[in-house]
Amino acid sequence: MLAAPAIAVPVLPRIYELNREALARWCEDHGVPGYRADQIRKWIFGKRVDSFAEMHDLPANFRALLAESFSLFPATVTEHRVASDRTEKLLLQLHDGELVECVLMREPDRRTVCISTQVGCAMGCVFCASGLRGLKRNLTTGEILEQVLRLDRLLPRDEAITNLVVMGIGEPLANLRSLLPALESLNEKGGLGLGARRITISTVGLPEKIRELAQIGKAYNLAVSLHAPDEATRSRLVPVNDKIGIDAVLAAADDFFAITGRRVTYEYVLLSGVNDAPVQARQLAGLLQSRVAHVNLIPMNHVDELTFVEPTAPRTQEFVRILTEAGVPATVRKRKGADIDAACGQLRLHQLEPAASAPV
Ligand code: SAH
Repeated sequence: MLAAPAIAVPVLPRIYELNREALARWCEDHGVPGYRADQIRKWIFGKRVDSFAEMHDLPANFRALLAESFSLFPATVTEHRVASDRTEKLLLQLHDGELVECVLMREPDRRTVCISTQVGCAMGCVFCASGLRGLKRNLTTGEILEQVLRLDRLLPRDEAITNLVVMGIGEPLANLRSLLPALESLNEKGGLGLGARRITISTVGLPEKIRELAQIGKAYNLAVSLHAPDEATRSRLVPVNDKIGIDAVLAAADDFFAITGRRVTYEYVLLSGVNDAPVQARQLAGLLQSRVAHVNLIPMNHVDELTFVEPTAPRTQEFVRILTEAGVPATVRKRKGADIDAACGQLRLHQLEPAASAPV
């Protein structure tokens, strides 16, 4: 049977798919001085314009050439939710119909954005909404940056993004090829001026990729999703652990610390009756006591298809107490945007067809 002909949607590349140097080269190739690249970047990253026409200090014919050659914000915002705590979430539809989510979180002294790196996820963590339908594809550098730039435009003129966490849909270390240029572009001249120290990359724990990230010489923060102190429980929750193992994850995180000097955060989603027992807290403390580490306990965000629930507050506090008394700093993550499905993966999941047989 012949496949239905694909509908040819002309897609112009996002202009910020090019980094500063590549954009300067493009300008020169088109008969315009390279410094125009910095002007363009200033309009996009600094002045938050939504069209090439607004870039007033560029010659009109050059603006027209840019508009014929590139896009700025080609994704469609299919949902924009605002929570009672002013967390905002965008569901973006890409040219091929795929959906991604990104979130803006507000705290008195911080404006943090959370972005996605893949459509779906291949890691299959059993409590996570993002991987329930598997991995569709990697996002491009431009698709990653569009999330940041769109969230930035939700802020008033006198506010700026202060922190960026790569904790949305997908496994960031499985798409470093798109992610790293996006993060670098944000830090280059004319970018958002977000230092690497304000950027946190969260990983399921892929040892070789953790080492690769450590080697690039940037001070990004690393968060490792540990979620259990023993192999059996971790493999049950994070299936890729079966082939990797906790020791290999910790050894890679140790190397990350040795190379970058950045303290590693260990994420641990507390699931009632699964990984929240005092004995597990003691075991976790045993693993991390000798390391320069911090534990971020994440309350389980409800996922309709799943039956995991968060422990009671006293049980959570007991877990924190055991870690702290053992000398392992631990904090419980504040829940943000609970009334808008702000935790990543959930909005997209609601838009997808229900699975033939939903996992429990
Ligand atoms: N793939 C990356 C990013 C995932 S999202 C990683 O594995 O780290 C960031 C964190 O949220 C991860 O620790 C992830 O395990 C956790 N998480 C996923 N689903 C969750 C849920 N329903 N409730 C609480 N935390 C969740």
